[in-house]
Amino acid sequence: MITRTPIAVHREAEPRAPAAWQRQLQEVIRDPLVLCQRLGLDPALLPGASAGHALFPVRVPEAYLARIRHADPDDPLLRQVLPLAAEQEAVGGFVDDPLVEREHTPRPGLIHKYAGRVLLIASPTCAINCRYCFRRHFPYAEHAPSMREWDASLDYLREDASIREVILSGGDPLASPDRRLAELVARLETIPHLQRLRIHTRLPVVIPDRVDAALLDWLGGTRLQKVMVLHINHAQEIDTAVVDACRRLAAAGVTLLNQSVLLRGVNDQVDTLAELSERLFAAGVLPYYLHVLDPVSGAAHFDVDDDSARALVASLRQRLPGFLMPRLVRELPGEASKTPL
Ligand code: SF4
Repeated sequence: MITRTPIAVHREAEPRAPAAWQRQLQEVIRDPLVLCQRLGLDPALLPGASAGHALFPVRVPEAYLARIRHADPDDPLLRQVLPLAAEQEAVGGFVDDPLVEREHTPRPGLIHKYAGRVLLIASPTCAINCRYCFRRHFPYAEHAPSMREWDASLDYLREDASIREVILSGGDPLASPDRRLAELVARLETIPHLQRLRIHTRLPVVIPDRVDAALLDWLGGTRLQKVMVLHINHAQEIDTAVVDACRRLAAAGVTLLNQSVLLRGVNDQVDTLAELSERLFAAGVLPYYLHVLDPVSGAAHFDVDDDSARALVASLRQRLPGFLMPRLVRELPGEASKTPL
């Protein structure tokens, strides 16, 4: 009797059409000239914008651009994304790696600074480039492991039972495709002592379509407790699409927190901070941290001095219930946690 071996039919995987958010990610504005023209800005801003762009490129999604006021160079959202000539100035104390993270990377793409939790750089890119970003000079090319290279990080996690929480960071972790994230999370779930998955992301804010069925599918399905720390600095960033995205995340069992950076010319007014806390809570997000600026080179013009920061927060406390108060903190290299101011 002849046993016929079934002929395996290998079909090429159907190329999947990019999701709406991926198309928006591909189409972000990457040219300071286009940014200035689209917003009707004074052409005199362009030389400074181009010089800053050479240091840290412009990236602005259309969904974010739509929330920026036309022809207003002081718009608080514009100030977060438009390079200025001031970025070229060397200012004492402002350095490329203010948090000395490169000394805390025991495996490529894994940062272990604090007890009980580690941070995985799940994506080297962001949807938006924030001019004040403390990782604007981070050598992502050296810390963007492939799925196979995650093995070393997963072994590290498996061997340290004190680690309860994995933080997906970046770049922006949600800039990665869902298939890749779902596979990573499925592998994390096999480590018994891991309890929580935290995601630090700005994508649901800058491209709210990122919170689609594919994301909610793997996120809602994991056994790990889910915390998402959004990054919103101004109430004007919270439009109805962002509120809807937050509601979808909450319905999937995600605890939503927000961290902001205190930025001169963006949110360094008590009214602005109070409105931000109110709008966050209305969207189901709890204010968590208000960070003072990390002293990264190119961002000194955003700095708010400590006395002004404390005075602002004291005034805010007069206005808001305690649960709407973010904690004013600074991250110091070598410290075991964030340092309250
Ligand atoms: S890591 Fe966060 S703060 Fe930095 S550029 Fe990306 S989205 Fe902005």
